[in-house]
Amino acid sequence: MNNNLAVVVSERLARYGFGNGHPFGPDRHSAFVREFEARGLDRRVRVLEPRDASYEELLAFHTPSYVDFVRERSVSGQGFLDAGDTPAFRGVYEAAAVVVGATLNAAAAIMSGQCRRAFVPIAGLHHAARDHAAGFCVFNDCGVAIELLRRNTGLERIAYVDIDAHHGDCVFYAFEDDPGVIFADTHEDGRYLYPGTGAAEETGRGAAAGTKLNLPLLPGADDAAFAQVWPQVIAHLERFDPQFIILQCGADSLEGDPITHLRFSPKTHGRAARELVELADRLGHGRILALGGGGYNRGNLAQAWTAVVENLLG
Ligand SMILES: [Zn+2]
Repeated sequence: MNNNLAVVVSERLARYGFGNGHPFGPDRHSAFVREFEARGLDRRVRVLEPRDASYEELLAFHTPSYVDFVRERSVSGQGFLDAGDTPAFRGVYEAAAVVVGATLNAAAAIMSGQCRRAFVPIAGLHHAARDHAAGFCVFNDCGVAIELLRRNTGLERIAYVDIDAHHGDCVFYAFEDDPGVIFADTHEDGRYLYPGTGAAEETGRGAAAGTKLNLPLLPGADDAAFAQVWPQVIAHLERFDPQFIILQCGADSLEGDPITHLRFSPKTHGRAARELVELADRLGHGRILALGGGGYNRGNLAQAWTAVVENLLG
């Protein structure tokens, strides 16, 4: 048993999906687990169970009216949770609360010293706003974790790094004026891809000016294009000395994703994880929580996420 890394693997986590045939279908979990086991990684990590995040925990980030709305739609299973991207289904409240609970369990395992680093495959739902769903994201587990880590553990500076093809808009805007969230995001330029945000000029407001780094990439950007900008991410984090690092490692930035236009290989995801491990060790705490994020080509997400796991193992 290796105490470096805990991974949340569970059928309960797999239930977060919008039906077979949907890009964000429940089969994304099994696609990851098959490769995870084929590489023998299940025997090298501590496997963690998720739990339900409580109503009060969800309110650390979300508004009560929005959480109540999801709960109502979860009973009927009818309609959409937003303008048309994110369908309701029966049990969606519970499934989304398990994603948040998985992320919180993983963060707690790190903070208690059970493990140095952790990975949650079905998580990193960065498009959920405080008061609405968007882009397949119901509850923002990243946002809830950031709020609760600071409230409950006394951490003051948390880094959020996002290499998903889409801009992490609802982490960015939720903390745009909050200097305690050190934000760095590589993504496909918003002129070409949902959600359309994340211009290089967006660097934080007020007391948080300069704490946010957005690095838009043109369609077709590959590993070499990523390698050109990535050192800025490491330098940005080093400047602010974060006490905990979250990595949203969406696999939709890989070549062959059906809904985006970046062309990374899994090597980029492995490299990002490895260099953040090195950085967290240099900073003296070693704390990294990686969240699967997007990724709609099943082979790609299996390759990218297992590359992250292998590098987090150290
Ligand atoms: Zn994405």
